[in-house]
Amino acid sequence: FRAKRDFSGFLMTASHCDSPTFKIKENAELTGSGCRRLAVEKYGGMLMSTWMDRPLGIAGRGLLRKGSGIESRLLDLGGACAVIPNVAIHMNRKANDGYSWNPAVDLLPLWGAGEEKGFFRPTLAMALACREEDILATDLALYNPQEGVEWNGLLSAPRLDDLQCAFSGLTAFLAAGESRAVPVCCIFDNEEVGSETKQGAASSFLSDTLRRVAHALGLDGEDYLRLLAQSFLVSADNAHAVHPNHPEFADMDNTPHLNGGVVVKFNANQRYTTDAVSCALFRAVCREADAPVQVYANRSDLPGGSTLGSIATAKVSVPSVDIGLAQLAMHSCVETAGAADMDALVRAMTVYYGKTLARAGETLTLA
Ligand code: ZN
Repeated sequence: FRAKRDFSGFLMTASHCDSPTFKIKENAELTGSGCRRLAVEKYGGMLMSTWMDRPLGIAGRGLLRKGSGIESRLLDLGGACAVIPNVAIHMNRKANDGYSWNPAVDLLPLWGAGEEKGFFRPTLAMALACREEDILATDLALYNPQEGVEWNGLLSAPRLDDLQCAFSGLTAFLAAGESRAVPVCCIFDNEEVGSETKQGAASSFLSDTLRRVAHALGLDGEDYLRLLAQSFLVSADNAHAVHPNHPEFADMDNTPHLNGGVVVKFNANQRYTTDAVSCALFRAVCREADAPVQVYANRSDLPGGSTLGSIATAKVSVPSVDIGLAQLAMHSCVETAGAADMDALVRAMTVYYGKTLARAGETLTLA
């Protein structure tokens, strides 16, 4: 390591890797009506109808007995293991009239034909290359295996919220040149369920990790706080583009458009962390990166979402800007965004990671 005086502060980006899905319950197998189904519960707030009538994969991890210990193995049963079938329009004439889905009834995935139980664990054992009796526990979820496509300058893919930002942050982190700042790329879990978990943005994980980085650089507690005073966070989570069929949900003067550039988000009640200082710093970075900037604020009569920035910076007090990429159909099984926007965000974050935050009195600069 270089001498400790060489390091000025942490330049961080934060995004999240989780997205709404269905988690498979411990006693997974259900039967009835000549079909095998899986017991699931919702993870996060999805657009439920979008999960129906499409082949779904099952993946996750298994914890296996291994000698006197326990081993964790990832597994993927493949992209066509289950379907959540709709009721035919002939039987549910109200299906197109704002139908309300009951997750305990309407959203149980079909897993095959037949009435007998006892197939699921052997399938898991085969995928995990172990004996059935050695499976101690599993974390399994459904996923949409559909590949992303680029069409007419747009991207359609599952999980754009927030893998677009995670990808952009990581790509920029890996490409970043030397600077006096310590680059940090955070990709948190559990944002979709409130972040209050041991691996979520509300945990002590970020603070603990930064303290340990400082310690490894030979810095003490006071030096760590001095580093924080010269640190910055870009909280990156996707934003709602104005919907062409429903512009009435947008504040038309403060709404982003697909392929309009990187979105800076504002909220008076601090659900987004952006203020004039952090916005100014980030705009300057985007200008240098030749990345267009647009803004987002909720319609003032509609509640909006929240994200990582305000949660993380309540634990690690640093200036922060909330940004994202404009997209449609957030939390649908397939979301749509602008292809050019992602290039712009990668450029902006790459420039950002090459900077150092300087503080002179009340004035902050990224130089
Ligand atoms: Zn998100």
